[in-house]
Amino acid sequence: MGSGGGGKEELAAVESREWYLSAYAPQGVPTSDHLKLRTVSLSLHPDSIPDGHLALQILWISVDPYLRSRMTGRDDGLYFSQFNLDQVLTEFGIGRVIRSKDSGFTEGVPGFTAWVGIEVLGNPKPGSNVFISAAAGGVGMFAGQLAKLKGCRVIGSTGSDEKVKLLKEEFGYDDAFNYHKETDFDAALSKYFPNGIDVYFENVGGKMLEAVLNHVNRGARIPLCGMISQYNKVWEEREGLRNLLNMVGKEVRMEGFLVGSYLDRFGDFMKEMEGYIKEGKIQSKHKVYNGIESFLESFASIFSSSNMGKVVIQVRP
Ligand code: NAP
Repeated sequence: MGSGGGGKEELAAVESREWYLSAYAPQGVPTSDHLKLRTVSLSLHPDSIPDGHLALQILWISVDPYLRSRMTGRDDGLYFSQFNLDQVLTEFGIGRVIRSKDSGFTEGVPGFTAWVGIEVLGNPKPGSNVFISAAAGGVGMFAGQLAKLKGCRVIGSTGSDEKVKLLKEEFGYDDAFNYHKETDFDAALSKYFPNGIDVYFENVGGKMLEAVLNHVNRGARIPLCGMISQYNKVWEEREGLRNLLNMVGKEVRMEGFLVGSYLDRFGDFMKEMEGYIKEGKIQSKHKVYNGIESFLESFASIFSSSNMGKVVIQVRP
């Protein structure tokens, strides 16, 4: 993950600042003991850029929870492979092409993850009872709004009263609760779901998932998008689920997914989302950090409840 590129066509070389992994972090939130910033010189001479590659001046960087799973030093089978020590971190972002030996590029879109979980796997019907965890985050905020647009009753859990207010007043959730205050999740779900849960969009895992399994309706669907409450723990410390048996009698379908496996549906997503955005039916929030040096702070923030909406770094104005 670098801030590379001087931006001027006549430049032959530029200084680029990049975050790299200096030590694995099996547990806890990674710190400056594991992640370090360095400055390297990059050649922009055409011979230095291999065919099919680009030199980009990075403008925006997305800060995503999945990065955490690539820093543990052992492969848990989650998301992608481990970073090597000394390797530059890679992330989704937006950049300006300053040298090109290829015209193609890709961009990360959190709304697409929400769409796959709701539209493709959850597939709620009008009137379905839908529960979203980490509901005010980059993925959650879109998942809840998409379910509302399908005519569902939508409840979210999140980590602050401010975010509860946001969910209800700006994202149109029917209700929401602060899981740091309503810590008996089983009691909270009894209160918010008197008629049970038809679709649970899973972002956090652990005790919340266990509580949900006590409230599922027959034929409920649980798209497993992520389990952020477990990312900073070695697997032996991760919480198990004591009530998986509930899935049998209720014929519940729980299914993990990676958004990258659904790229053939990206066109459908864009068409639907463009319409919603033009009609002002979808709202979004971003928490913007400034400068590449803010990566450690921004990355740690996604393992707390301190941010709101999608976390991004603005590398350059
Ligand atoms: P995000 O929701 O914007 O940020 C993470 C949020 O998780 C935090 O803001 C925090 O919000 C909550 N959180 C952090 N630690 C928690 C804990 N211990 N217990 C409960 N909640 C906790 O991040 P995002 O990018 O939208 O990602 C959301 C989930 O989707 C993650 O699990 C991520 O791994 C997953 N994801 C999956 C895919 C895929 O292809 N399957 C793609 C993208 C993202 P509050 O505490 O305030 O609620």
